[in-house]
Amino acid sequence: MSFAYEHLDPELADRLIARAGLDQIRAKVDAGERLAFDDGLRLYQCPDLAAVGLLAHRVRTRRHGRKAYFNVNQHVNYTNICIYSCKFCAFAAKEGEERAYLMTPRIVEEKVREHLHEPVDEVHMVAGIHPTMPYEYYLDVVRAAKRARPDIHVKAFTMVEIDHMLKVSGKSEDEVFADLRAAGLGSCPGGGAEVLTDRVHKAVFREKIGPQQWLDTARKVQRHGFQMNATMLYGHIERDAERVEHLVKLRDLQDECGGFMAYIPLAFWPYHTDLEHYGHVTTGWTDLRNIAVGRLMLDNFPTVKAYWIMLTPASAQVALAFGANDIDGTVTEEKITHDAGTDAPMRLTQDELIHLIREAGFVPVRRNTTYDRETVVDSALAQA
Ligand code: SF4
Repeated sequence: MSFAYEHLDPELADRLIARAGLDQIRAKVDAGERLAFDDGLRLYQCPDLAAVGLLAHRVRTRRHGRKAYFNVNQHVNYTNICIYSCKFCAFAAKEGEERAYLMTPRIVEEKVREHLHEPVDEVHMVAGIHPTMPYEYYLDVVRAAKRARPDIHVKAFTMVEIDHMLKVSGKSEDEVFADLRAAGLGSCPGGGAEVLTDRVHKAVFREKIGPQQWLDTARKVQRHGFQMNATMLYGHIERDAERVEHLVKLRDLQDECGGFMAYIPLAFWPYHTDLEHYGHVTTGWTDLRNIAVGRLMLDNFPTVKAYWIMLTPASAQVALAFGANDIDGTVTEEKITHDAGTDAPMRLTQDELIHLIREAGFVPVRRNTTYDRETVVDSALAQA
């Protein structure tokens, strides 16, 4: 089984792309030239999504062939208590609320220990910005995960959390990153960017760090030798031009620092948020377009990830043919998107991820967090 694009005669494919008005963009893509802001806008506004997907698939195939990556990971959201009140967030709670919780480092350690019988090699930890926990707590949370499983890769802390630590630590930037490295931090996830424009920042997350501060913090992270991911939360009030602006800002920072591993467009789930009156979740159409445009604009990002928790497994599977080359991991226990109403499951097994990838005509490859270790799936299954 393989995706239908592969059976298209290349000349016919080019004609379909030209008919969609994307011939000039196709010429740039085929020549490996960088796309301009206006190209990004045209890709967002082109009614022919299949043509946009065809172009993105071309780039994805050039970089990764038929490989589609996944990993075996677990999520730990160590607190939902947060000083901020972002309008798109259903996860955060205030201290004293019934649903508020805070994990001690011991609980984090137990959460990681619960999965010692599984071949988990990454723990992904992000959380709210707690009003009173001291700097040492964040280091202890990382140490706790490493104590439970010394060989686990700790991918933790959004730029919002890193910015908060830098502020409360009373230490220099160099000291904070040295402390995090010594505690066992391996890399950072890409959350907290939302949409990197001043209008969206003011309208829906004005209390927390804005576009420039997110980029500045990401620059600090990468200059201190940590790799990280980058996200965009789409499907609320943002406009097409703002999505393109976000992508161009990420691309510029990648040119400068080179530390981004993956771009991960995140579909907004409105339930239980202050934007619930928008009343709809993103459609597959919007999800696939954001994957495809990200792949085409971010020519210096190695990976575009279809995060199945937010896209749902079915859409993430199809996204592999619209530019994505990664479907994320097993996850195990996820709170942030589930509080906002996703109907995706909390976990997928390795076998389920492999099945999704194979059914779409791609070759499943298990990777580590930083993509420098790949395992052929059949032998991985034999070892699991
Ligand atoms: S998105 Fe993050 S920073 Fe904003 S309210 Fe939710 S947990 Fe807090």
